[in-house]
Amino acid sequence: MEFALLNGNIIKRSDAKIDIEDRGYQFGDGVYEVIRIYNGRMFTIDEHLNRFLKSAESIGISIPFTSLQLKELLDELLLKNNLETGNIYMQVTRGTAPRNHLFPSGDIMPTLVAYTIKGVRPLESLKSGVKAILTEDIRWLRCDIKSLNLLGNLLAKQKASEQGCFEAIQHRGDDVTEGSSSNIFIVKNGTVITHESNHLILKGITKDVILDICVINNIPVQERTFSVAELEEADEVFLSSTTAEVMPVVEINGKKVQSGVPGHTTRKLQELFEKEIENQCGVLLR
Ligand SMILES: *Cc1c(COP(=O)(O)O)cnc(C)c1O
Repeated sequence: MEFALLNGNIIKRSDAKIDIEDRGYQFGDGVYEVIRIYNGRMFTIDEHLNRFLKSAESIGISIPFTSLQLKELLDELLLKNNLETGNIYMQVTRGTAPRNHLFPSGDIMPTLVAYTIKGVRPLESLKSGVKAILTEDIRWLRCDIKSLNLLGNLLAKQKASEQGCFEAIQHRGDDVTEGSSSNIFIVKNGTVITHESNHLILKGITKDVILDICVINNIPVQERTFSVAELEEADEVFLSSTTAEVMPVVEINGKKVQSGVPGHTTRKLQELFEKEIENQCGVLLR
Protein backbone atom coordinates (compact mmCIF):
# COMPACT_ATOMS: atom_id res chain seq x y z
CA MET A 1 0.00 0.00 0.00
CA GLU A 2 1.18 3.54 -0.79
CA PHE A 3 0.99 6.35 1.74
CA ALA A 4 0.85 10.13 1.47
CA LEU A 5 1.34 12.97 3.92
CA LEU A 6 -1.69 15.23 4.34
CA ASN A 7 -1.53 18.04 6.90
CA GLY A 8 0.77 16.20 9.26
CA ASN A 9 -0.89 12.80 8.99
CA ILE A 10 0.44 9.87 7.02
CA ILE A 11 -2.56 8.22 5.45
CA LYS A 12 -3.40 5.82 2.66
CA ARG A 13 -2.54 7.62 -0.57
CA SER A 14 -5.99 6.92 -2.03
CA ASP A 15 -7.57 8.58 1.02
CA ALA A 16 -5.70 11.86 0.43
CA LYS A 17 -8.43 14.12 -0.98
CA ILE A 18 -8.40 17.89 -1.54
CA ASP A 19 -11.42 20.21 -1.48
CA ILE A 20 -12.50 21.70 -4.85
CA GLU A 21 -12.13 25.15 -3.27
CA ASP A 22 -8.53 24.59 -2.31
CA ARG A 23 -6.64 27.70 -3.44
CA GLY A 24 -3.91 25.59 -4.96
CA TYR A 25 -6.46 24.00 -7.29
CA GLN A 26 -8.16 27.29 -8.17
CA PHE A 27 -5.30 29.80 -8.25
CA GLY A 28 -2.04 27.85 -8.02
CA ASP A 29 -1.77 29.72 -4.72
CA GLY A 30 1.06 27.77 -3.15
CA VAL A 31 4.62 26.52 -3.46
CA TYR A 32 6.33 23.17 -3.86
CA GLU A 33 9.54 21.14 -3.69
CA VAL A 34 10.90 18.05 -5.39
CA ILE A 35 13.41 16.14 -3.26
CA ARG A 36 15.64 13.41 -4.67
CA ILE A 37 15.96 10.07 -2.89
CA TYR A 38 19.02 7.87 -3.34
CA ASN A 39 19.39 4.62 -1.40
CA GLY A 40 16.30 5.49 0.63
CA ARG A 41 17.90 8.74 1.83
CA MET A 42 17.00 12.34 1.08
CA PHE A 43 19.67 14.35 -0.78
CA THR A 44 20.21 18.01 0.34
CA ILE A 45 17.09 17.80 2.48
CA ASP A 46 17.92 20.78 4.72
CA GLU A 47 18.38 23.02 1.68
CA HIS A 48 15.03 21.87 0.25
CA LEU A 49 13.18 22.42 3.52
CA ASN A 50 14.74 25.87 3.94
CA ARG A 51 13.71 26.87 0.44
CA PHE A 52 10.21 25.45 0.97
CA LEU A 53 9.71 27.50 4.14
CA LYS A 54 11.19 30.58 2.47
CA SER A 55 9.03 30.25 -0.67
CA ALA A 56 5.93 29.85 1.50
CA GLU A 57 6.85 32.82 3.67
CA SER A 58 7.46 35.00 0.62
CA ILE A 59 3.78 34.65 -0.35
CA GLY A 60 2.48 34.88 3.22
CA ILE A 61 1.74 31.22 3.88
CA SER A 62 2.88 30.10 7.31
CA ILE A 63 3.54 26.39 7.46
CA PRO A 64 2.50 25.00 10.84
CA PHE A 65 5.55 22.70 11.04
CA THR A 66 9.20 23.30 11.74
CA SER A 67 11.87 22.15 9.34
CA LEU A 68 12.72 19.34 11.77
CA GLN A 69 9.11 18.18 12.05
CA LEU A 70 8.79 18.13 8.26
CA LYS A 71 11.99 16.15 7.95
CA GLU A 72 10.73 13.55 10.43
CA LEU A 73 7.39 13.28 8.63
CA LEU A 74 9.11 12.83 5.25
CA ASP A 75 11.44 10.21 6.71
CA GLU A 76 8.44 8.31 8.02
CA LEU A 77 6.74 8.58 4.63
CA LEU A 78 9.83 7.24 2.87
CA LEU A 79 10.05 4.34 5.23
CA LYS A 80 6.37 3.47 4.92
CA ASN A 81 6.54 3.62 1.12
CA ASN A 82 9.78 1.71 1.11
CA LEU A 83 11.27 4.10 -1.46
CA GLU A 84 14.85 3.40 -2.55
CA THR A 85 15.32 5.62 -5.61
CA GLY A 86 12.91 8.33 -6.65
CA ASN A 87 11.46 11.63 -5.54
CA ILE A 88 9.33 13.18 -2.88
CA TYR A 89 6.85 15.74 -4.19
CA MET A 90 5.69 18.18 -1.52
CA GLN A 91 3.43 21.20 -1.84
CA VAL A 92 1.62 23.63 0.40
CA THR A 93 -1.32 25.85 -0.58
CA ARG A 94 -2.92 28.74 1.25
CA GLY A 95 -5.80 26.42 2.12
CA THR A 96 -9.49 26.09 1.35
CA ALA A 97 -11.85 29.09 1.27
CA PRO A 98 -14.72 30.44 -0.90
CA ARG A 99 -13.21 31.54 -4.20
CA ASN A 100 -11.90 35.11 -4.01
CA HIS A 101 -8.69 36.63 -5.29
CA LEU A 102 -8.15 38.25 -1.88
CA PHE A 103 -6.39 36.17 0.74
CA PRO A 104 -9.02 34.69 3.08
CA SER A 105 -9.42 36.70 6.27
CA GLY A 106 -8.80 34.97 9.56
CA ASP A 107 -6.76 31.89 10.16
CA ILE A 108 -7.17 29.21 7.55
CA MET A 109 -5.16 26.02 7.58
CA PRO A 110 -2.68 25.69 4.73
CA THR A 111 -3.02 22.39 2.86
CA LEU A 112 0.25 20.47 2.96
CA VAL A 113 0.69 17.36 0.86
CA ALA A 114 3.65 15.08 0.17
CA TYR A 115 3.95 11.79 -1.65
CA THR A 116 6.64 9.65 -3.20
CA ILE A 117 7.38 8.77 -6.82
CA LYS A 118 9.64 5.90 -7.87
CA GLY A 119 12.24 6.87 -10.44
CA VAL A 120 15.68 5.75 -11.53
CA ARG A 121 18.54 8.09 -12.42
CA PRO A 122 18.54 9.15 -16.12
CA LEU A 123 21.82 7.32 -16.73
CA GLU A 124 21.57 7.15 -20.52
CA SER A 125 20.97 10.91 -20.90
CA LEU A 126 23.63 11.72 -18.31
CA LYS A 127 26.10 9.85 -20.46
CA SER A 128 25.20 11.08 -23.93
CA GLY A 129 23.52 14.40 -23.20
CA VAL A 130 20.18 15.92 -24.22
CA LYS A 131 18.86 18.35 -26.82
CA ALA A 132 17.29 21.71 -26.06
CA ILE A 133 15.47 24.51 -27.83
CA LEU A 134 15.70 28.24 -27.18
CA THR A 135 12.52 30.08 -26.32
CA GLU A 136 11.56 33.54 -25.04
CA ASP A 137 11.02 33.61 -21.27
CA ILE A 138 7.41 34.76 -20.89
CA ARG A 139 7.13 34.16 -17.13
CA TRP A 140 6.46 36.63 -14.33
CA LEU A 141 9.14 38.55 -12.42
CA ARG A 142 9.22 36.45 -9.24
CA CYS A 143 10.80 33.31 -10.68
CA ASP A 144 12.75 33.02 -7.40
CA ILE A 145 9.60 31.61 -5.77
CA LYS A 146 9.01 27.89 -6.41
CA SER A 147 5.39 28.63 -7.16
CA LEU A 148 2.70 26.16 -8.21
CA ASN A 149 1.92 28.56 -11.06
CA LEU A 150 3.89 26.87 -13.82
CA LEU A 151 2.00 27.71 -17.01
CA GLY A 152 4.90 29.61 -18.57
CA ASN A 153 7.21 26.72 -17.72
CA LEU A 154 4.75 24.11 -19.02
CA LEU A 155 4.28 25.88 -22.36
CA ALA A 156 8.06 26.08 -22.80
CA LYS A 157 8.65 22.42 -21.92
CA GLN A 158 5.80 21.23 -24.14
CA LYS A 159 7.24 23.18 -27.07
CA ALA A 160 10.64 21.56 -26.46
CA SER A 161 9.12 18.11 -26.33
CA GLU A 162 7.18 18.67 -29.56
CA GLN A 163 10.53 19.38 -31.22
CA GLY A 164 12.05 16.18 -29.83
CA CYS A 165 13.97 18.02 -27.12
CA PHE A 166 14.36 17.47 -23.40
CA GLU A 167 14.41 21.08 -22.24
CA ALA A 168 13.60 24.65 -23.27
CA ILE A 169 16.33 27.16 -22.53
CA GLN A 170 14.58 30.46 -21.85
CA HIS A 171 15.92 33.95 -22.56
CA ARG A 172 14.65 37.45 -21.86
CA GLY A 173 15.71 39.32 -24.96
CA ASP A 174 19.46 38.72 -25.22
CA ASP A 175 19.89 37.28 -21.73
CA VAL A 176 19.64 33.56 -21.00
CA THR A 177 17.68 32.97 -17.79
CA GLU A 178 17.05 29.27 -17.08
CA GLY A 179 15.38 26.11 -18.31
CA SER A 180 11.69 25.35 -17.81
CA SER A 181 12.59 23.27 -14.77
CA SER A 182 16.36 23.51 -14.60
CA ASN A 183 19.24 25.96 -14.33
CA ILE A 184 21.52 26.51 -17.33
CA PHE A 185 25.33 26.60 -17.30
CA ILE A 186 27.88 27.30 -20.00
CA VAL A 187 31.60 26.59 -19.96
CA LYS A 188 33.94 28.96 -21.79
CA ASN A 189 37.74 28.58 -21.70
CA GLY A 190 37.43 26.44 -18.57
CA THR A 191 35.20 28.89 -16.68
CA VAL A 192 31.76 27.74 -15.57
CA ILE A 193 29.14 30.49 -15.98
CA THR A 194 25.53 30.53 -14.75
CA HIS A 195 22.87 33.22 -14.19
CA GLU A 196 23.05 34.93 -10.80
CA SER A 197 20.31 33.90 -8.39
CA ASN A 198 17.89 36.83 -8.51
CA HIS A 199 14.16 37.31 -9.20
CA LEU A 200 14.55 36.08 -12.81
CA ILE A 201 15.43 32.48 -11.98
CA LEU A 202 14.79 29.81 -9.39
CA LYS A 203 17.77 29.37 -7.13
CA GLY A 204 18.36 25.69 -7.75
CA ILE A 205 19.72 23.55 -4.97
CA THR A 206 21.58 21.48 -7.54
CA LYS A 207 22.99 24.75 -8.94
CA ASP A 208 24.27 25.71 -5.50
CA VAL A 209 25.85 22.27 -4.96
CA ILE A 210 27.62 22.67 -8.33
CA LEU A 211 28.85 26.17 -7.41
CA ASP A 212 30.26 24.83 -4.13
CA ILE A 213 31.92 21.94 -5.96
CA CYS A 214 33.56 24.41 -8.38
CA VAL A 215 34.92 26.56 -5.55
CA ILE A 216 36.22 23.60 -3.54
CA ASN A 217 37.91 22.07 -6.60
CA ASN A 218 39.39 25.31 -7.97
CA ILE A 219 37.22 25.26 -11.07
CA PRO A 220 36.77 28.91 -12.16
CA VAL A 221 33.11 29.89 -11.80
CA GLN A 222 31.08 33.05 -12.40
CA GLU A 223 27.50 33.80 -11.43
CA ARG A 224 26.45 36.41 -13.97
CA THR A 225 24.04 37.04 -16.79
CA PHE A 226 25.20 35.62 -20.11
CA SER A 227 23.83 36.23 -23.58
CA VAL A 228 22.25 33.97 -26.18
CA ALA A 229 25.36 34.60 -28.30
CA GLU A 230 27.59 33.35 -25.45
CA LEU A 231 25.40 30.27 -25.17
CA GLU A 232 25.72 29.65 -28.90
CA GLU A 233 29.50 30.03 -28.76
CA ALA A 234 30.04 28.08 -25.54
CA ASP A 235 32.55 25.23 -25.32
CA GLU A 236 30.10 23.23 -23.20
CA VAL A 237 26.51 23.60 -22.02
CA PHE A 238 24.79 21.71 -19.24
CA LEU A 239 21.67 22.02 -17.13
CA SER A 240 21.00 21.14 -13.53
CA SER A 241 18.02 20.07 -11.44
CA THR A 242 17.11 17.71 -8.64
CA THR A 243 16.03 15.00 -11.08
CA ALA A 244 18.41 15.74 -13.99
CA GLU A 245 21.53 16.27 -11.81
CA VAL A 246 24.38 17.59 -14.03
CA MET A 247 22.94 17.00 -17.49
CA PRO A 248 25.00 17.70 -20.63
CA VAL A 249 23.23 19.68 -23.37
CA VAL A 250 24.70 18.61 -26.71
CA GLU A 251 22.38 20.28 -29.22
CA ILE A 252 20.47 23.59 -29.17
CA ASN A 253 17.88 24.51 -31.84
CA GLY A 254 19.16 21.68 -34.03
CA LYS A 255 22.77 22.91 -33.88
CA LYS A 256 25.42 20.82 -32.11
CA VAL A 257 27.25 22.29 -29.14
CA GLN A 258 30.84 22.06 -30.44
CA SER A 259 31.31 18.41 -31.49
CA GLY A 260 28.00 17.36 -29.94
CA VAL A 261 29.31 15.26 -27.08
CA PRO A 262 29.46 16.05 -23.32
CA GLY A 263 32.47 18.23 -22.55
CA HIS A 264 35.39 17.68 -20.23
CA THR A 265 34.33 20.10 -17.48
CA THR A 266 30.76 18.81 -17.55
CA ARG A 267 31.97 15.22 -17.10
CA LYS A 268 34.28 16.28 -14.28
CA LEU A 269 31.37 18.02 -12.54
CA GLN A 270 29.19 14.93 -12.99
CA GLU A 271 31.85 12.85 -11.29
CA LEU A 272 32.21 15.31 -8.40
CA PHE A 273 28.43 15.58 -8.09
CA GLU A 274 28.11 11.80 -7.79
CA LYS A 275 30.70 11.89 -5.03
CA GLU A 276 28.56 14.44 -3.18
CA ILE A 277 25.52 12.18 -3.55
CA GLU A 278 27.53 9.28 -2.16
CA ASN A 279 28.76 11.42 0.75
CA GLN A 280 25.19 12.10 1.76
CA CYS A 281 23.32 8.97 0.66
CA GLY A 282 25.82 6.14 0.31
CA VAL A 283 27.29 4.34 -2.67
CA LEU A 284 25.30 4.54 -5.92
CA LEU A 285 24.49 1.57 -8.09
CA ARG A 286 25.81 2.09 -11.59
C1 LIG B 1 13.00 23.45 -9.38
C2 LIG B 1 13.50 24.31 -10.49
C3 LIG B 1 14.85 24.36 -10.86
C4 LIG B 1 15.90 23.42 -10.29
O1 LIG B 1 16.04 23.51 -8.92
P1 LIG B 1 16.64 22.27 -8.10
O2 LIG B 1 16.53 22.73 -6.68
O3 LIG B 1 18.05 22.11 -8.53
O4 LIG B 1 15.80 21.08 -8.41
C5 LIG B 1 15.24 25.29 -11.82
N1 LIG B 1 14.34 26.09 -12.42
C6 LIG B 1 13.03 26.04 -12.13
C7 LIG B 1 12.09 26.95 -12.83
C8 LIG B 1 12.56 25.15 -11.16
O5 LIG B 1 11.25 25.10 -10.88
